Amino acid sequence: MDNHRPEGVGGMVDADGQTCRKSSGTMQPELSDAELLALELDLFCGECDKPELNEGDDGHTSSRSAESCCTGQGTVEDTCSRNEQSSNQSEQKSEMPPEGSSTKRRKQDERIPLERFGRKYLNVTDLTRQVWCEQQVVYGLELPHIEQLREEVPVVKAGSCLHLARELEIQDIVPINVESREDSWAVKILNLLSMIQFLQAGERVRELPVFGELEGIFLVGVVDELCYNSKGELELCELKTRGQRTYPSAAQRKSHLFQVNIYKLLFEAMIKGKLNKETITDHLRLRTEQPFSSEILMHAQKVGFSINTFGDLLDLMLLNLTYAEIPNIDTMKIEYCYQADASLIGTEVVYFEEEWVKSELKHYCSFWKGQREAKGVDIEEAWKCRSCDFADICEWRHSKAEEATQKNRANKSK
Ligand code: SF4
Repeated sequence: MDNHRPEGVGGMVDADGQTCRKSSGTMQPELSDAELLALELDLFCGECDKPELNEGDDGHTSSRSAESCCTGQGTVEDTCSRNEQSSNQSEQKSEMPPEGSSTKRRKQDERIPLERFGRKYLNVTDLTRQVWCEQQVVYGLELPHIEQLREEVPVVKAGSCLHLARELEIQDIVPINVESREDSWAVKILNLLSMIQFLQAGERVRELPVFGELEGIFLVGVVDELCYNSKGELELCELKTRGQRTYPSAAQRKSHLFQVNIYKLLFEAMIKGKLNKETITDHLRLRTEQPFSSEILMHAQKVGFSINTFGDLLDLMLLNLTYAEIPNIDTMKIEYCYQADASLIGTEVVYFEEEWVKSELKHYCSFWKGQREAKGVDIEEAWKCRSCDFADICEWRHSKAEEATQKNRANKSK
């Protein structure tokens, strides 16, 4: 399957409206790919292109909440699961595998990856990170202590601050205690309901939760911003912050395009009434009869919703989504900002490519459903391994290096 996006799907414009040259952001290796794979990784400098810690490279989900409530008066943040990633850790407990050969271990475990990693749903960023390297996503789940170190790097923290600053421009955040998984999802849904009201009033919203089933897997994401442009069209804007004043590499760009295309699919399925109660409760294993904590009940009342159980809230949400008459997303763009001073590097207009995004989804989801093994990077993209935290232990990289060495030997002996 060809998983590469067709050329010409978006256009880059810089802060002054000029067409920009895209920086690859990568070092062109002078060594062969085989040599590159086999080299000691600490010989390389840290300036090479890195995968972005999504929602992006900028740590958006590392500190921003998928579950902070936007009320317009005061806002609420689930203090138990502050973001997509941490809520995964708290709600979806991954099982730590024993030490040993991970390939052997995976082969012995007959469960599909979704079950093996204890995941009820995937974040959109799980999929977009697969675009960079699927094997790296697997190692991140198998070795979460290494993965967590990535969240501490300054570039990720700086990205989080910029996202937070943007959110605080239009909404406040108030922490709320949650006592159950249903409470945690209630925060997300109450946020959504409040934002739907703002969208109906023609206002801008930020950090909008989106979720639903695609390819048989429940996906959860957070849209940075939705607003109406000067033509009255609904516009999606995704913020990506950069440590350098350059555009991302083609590899990073592909994951960004994939991300916003998935957001459009999820959002439009929600407002067209394609979500249903059973899909949510079956995938997430949530109890409709579960009563809420007092803090959730108080907050719901404050924002004008009368609910008692999780089932009530789901009914309310589905009704609101179906009858809200929110339009489809007409335009999509990605804003690249320089982390040091928050200045705009440029904007990329993204075109919705339905066939492409669905085919990519099918491919990446097939791994989670156990229909194929995880793949590492192709030898042409061996440069990615230079900045990978798992390079020393990566069996894919070692096998590719071995393969390439044998091929070279065979060619020389001809
Ligand atoms: Fe992927 Fe390379 Fe890292 Fe292995 S070393 S996980 S192939 S990026």
